[in-house]
Amino acid sequence: MPSMLDAVVVGAGPNGLTAAVELARRGFSVAVFEARDTVGGGARTEELTLPGFRHDPCSAAHPLGVNSPAFRAMPLTRYGLEWLHADLPMAHPFPDGTAAVLARSVAETAASFGPRDAGTYRRLVEPFLSRWDTLAHDFMSLPLTALPRDPVTLARFGLAGLPPSTWLMRRFRDERAKALFAGLVGHVMAPLDGIATSAVGLVFALAAHARGWPVARGGSQSISDALTAYLTDLGGTVHTGYEVKRLDDLPPARAYVFDTSPTALARIAGFGGHYERYRYGAGVFKIDYALDGPVPWRAPEARTATTVQVAASSAEIGTALRAASRENRAPDTPFLITVQPSVVDPSRAPEGKQVFWAYGHVPNGWTGDLTDAVERQLERFAPGFRDRVLARATAGPPQLAARNANYVGGDIGTGAADGLQLLLRPRLTLHPYATPHPAVFICSSATPPGPGVHGMSGHNAAKAVWRRLRQS
Ligand SMILES: Cc1cc2nc3c(=O)[nH]c(=O)nc-3n(C[C@H](O)[C@H](O)[C@H](O)COP(=O)(O)OP(=O)(O)OC[C@H]3O[C@@H](n4cnc5c(N)ncnc54)[C@H](O)[C@@H]3O)c2cc1C
Repeated sequence: MPSMLDAVVVGAGPNGLTAAVELARRGFSVAVFEARDTVGGGARTEELTLPGFRHDPCSAAHPLGVNSPAFRAMPLTRYGLEWLHADLPMAHPFPDGTAAVLARSVAETAASFGPRDAGTYRRLVEPFLSRWDTLAHDFMSLPLTALPRDPVTLARFGLAGLPPSTWLMRRFRDERAKALFAGLVGHVMAPLDGIATSAVGLVFALAAHARGWPVARGGSQSISDALTAYLTDLGGTVHTGYEVKRLDDLPPARAYVFDTSPTALARIAGFGGHYERYRYGAGVFKIDYALDGPVPWRAPEARTATTVQVAASSAEIGTALRAASRENRAPDTPFLITVQPSVVDPSRAPEGKQVFWAYGHVPNGWTGDLTDAVERQLERFAPGFRDRVLARATAGPPQLAARNANYVGGDIGTGAADGLQLLLRPRLTLHPYATPHPAVFICSSATPPGPGVHGMSGHNAAKAVWRRLRQS
């Protein structure tokens, strides 16, 4: 290691690793320090239940990863990353055995909503789809210190996306489209009536039509391993098992980049109350299952999708999200997001067996056990599910926070995704990656564009860092 590094990154999650790669690619010397014994943060894979069952304890479905402008500009396939696509990116089954689907094709998706909503859906997404790559680049780089590439499309997307999703859903007449769209918003856990929640739903839908919702062959760990291998080839170093508690724990460097929560950064760097207005949102209760075979979904479509949303209606989703985020109670009937990587990736489990995960939303810091409510909900849509369970590993807010300090109170988005904080985080500023110390930066999902495995917060933060390094 040189006596003075250009940059030190704290945290080897997707954003920290992306920031490190972007800096190393530009010739800067970089070292990463990670608290856990392995890299990955929210993109890792572990045998959580039984031997041979490879679970993703956090992220598993990657609409944001496969569409990420940062990842797409890196040779990650050369380092072992392979995206696997199911026949359907996502299905939303109903208790009667039918399903709405989010397919690669807009026409197939629209047809699954029924004749009364098919045209509305097509008119909603088609104008943006043809400009998706530029649009994705523009809004994932927000807030802007450079001009957007296509300001007109970005402005039109803003008009469509800024209203609450409850307004947008009024355009649909039937429950099939409403429930599927409400579920998409629930992926970032924003309550459905929050500002810009229409944009959340639209982004996930457009991402599916543009490039799908794949899983990574072998597990999400392969995303982190590919980033790490690329970084190492570029001359960067990664140190695991090294929890940073004070700035003095780190070697001398011209810049420090934190893939941590704002609260942790304030503690480590001595920033006092700089981020005291930053809010954390609802937590989740997650169950990783080892199964004796596929999930016995009643709806055939759900058997061929990697991601399955589980709720009977948009009202059920709204009630569940409200309970966890506003009423400080666990929902009786949770809205479940589930992922079944084994549908496309046989390497995750012994022959004939499957891995599967499901989570529901609970209040921040909740210490109860949601297992029974989760499984009752699954049984409504997949009767006989419990009979397939060989083993389960549960994690509520305390366990999630213990696994990764960024998930404060079990908030997997590292900060509430509601109100202005959905767009402007971690503070109201045009320079979200900067901090009170000119050499210290923040790059976690507490910064724009927010939660998900896409590395764009790290990419944007790295730009701020290299501008500073070139000046000094
Ligand atoms: C249960 C669950 C399911 C999810 N599902 C999906 C999904 O399907 N698709 C998707 O796109 N996203 C999903 N996410 C969200 C996604 O994982 C995160 O948004 C993403 O990982 C954020 O990346 P990051 O780099 O900002 O932070 P993280 O991935 O959280 O990484 C932060 C890293 O910093 C380390 N760290 C923290 N403090 C310190 C310290 N003081 N010293 C040293 N190291 C430190 C941590 O150990 C961690 O490795 C899910 C998350 C969870 C928990």
